[in-house]
Amino acid sequence: MRAMLLERPQPAEKSPLTLDDLPTPTPGPGEIRVRIRCCGLCHTDLHTVEGDLQLPRLPVVPGHQIVGIVDALGPGARIFKEGDRVGIPWLHSTDNQCDYCRRGLENLCDQAQFTGYHVDGGYAEYTVVNENYAYRIPEVFSDENAAPLLCAGIIGYRSYRLSGILPGQRLGLYGFGASAHLVLQFARHQNCEVYVFTRTPIHRELAQRLGAVWVGSAEDTPPHPLDASIIFAPAGALVPQALRVLRKAGTLALAGITMSTIPAMDYSLLYHERVIRSIANSTRQDAREFLQLAAEVPLQTEVELFDLGQANQALQALKKSEIKGAGVLRINM
Ligand SMILES: [Zn+2]
Ligand SMILES: [Zn+2]
Repeated sequence: MRAMLLERPQPAEKSPLTLDDLPTPTPGPGEIRVRIRCCGLCHTDLHTVEGDLQLPRLPVVPGHQIVGIVDALGPGARIFKEGDRVGIPWLHSTDNQCDYCRRGLENLCDQAQFTGYHVDGGYAEYTVVNENYAYRIPEVFSDENAAPLLCAGIIGYRSYRLSGILPGQRLGLYGFGASAHLVLQFARHQNCEVYVFTRTPIHRELAQRLGAVWVGSAEDTPPHPLDASIIFAPAGALVPQALRVLRKAGTLALAGITMSTIPAMDYSLLYHERVIRSIANSTRQDAREFLQLAAEVPLQTEVELFDLGQANQALQALKKSEIKGAGVLRINM
């Protein structure tokens, strides 16, 4: 099968992925094989290819927003049948038995394996996964429009949920990429007012079109203090900026997998029971709840398509914030 393989992490500009011919995987017990139709691009992929993350194995095929068709069942697999359309996200497997798993926090499982990181991911024609970690894609979504839901969407949903925002309240979003443009629609569906902080003109325009009540820069002060905010950009300098316009008892959720140093700040920014919390990965329950809600809204995803062999160029565009909405690799489409 064709796959874009990472042998050695390098800056995206150096095109670290090479188009390779790998053996097509065979599904093991309880696994399904998926013929991949498309795979979304995520900032984590960029952190993977550039080596910002400690990589558990090399070479590796990145990609963890996989949409495809089940084309073979391993022994004992019975949830899906051949021809079903499924999605595979970042959470590839857990041990189901550690303290975190037992407490409903499998996103923090000590033995968790992640797609396109511990195991080969979706920048390829085929992949295999345990059937308990794949999800039916609601029919309302096309393949390419479903792909960004699988990480950007699920992580956005968990961030939204853990920000504690209630229907009708005011939500701030910092950074307006793939996740934020889904959270905005979700929040509007819950009658929240959404305030978007971004410098990029195409992101400002998209935010306004999707119903943001206000757009500005992180240095700007919106007309009302916010009930909760989510930072999607990996910029620690945004933390004091966001706290500055957050109401008493408001939560600031940090959705990124990495962040630059958070500057020293005055305690008064945090006082009055404001909360800063990070968001890590997501659970299977997040995925199921989110996909159902996404179909109810239904969420509109803005996608830009690239061919599998253009994965390097696509990651370069992602790095430069040149993709409007979410980037998606077209594979068996
Ligand atoms: Zn991701
Ligand atoms: Zn566990």
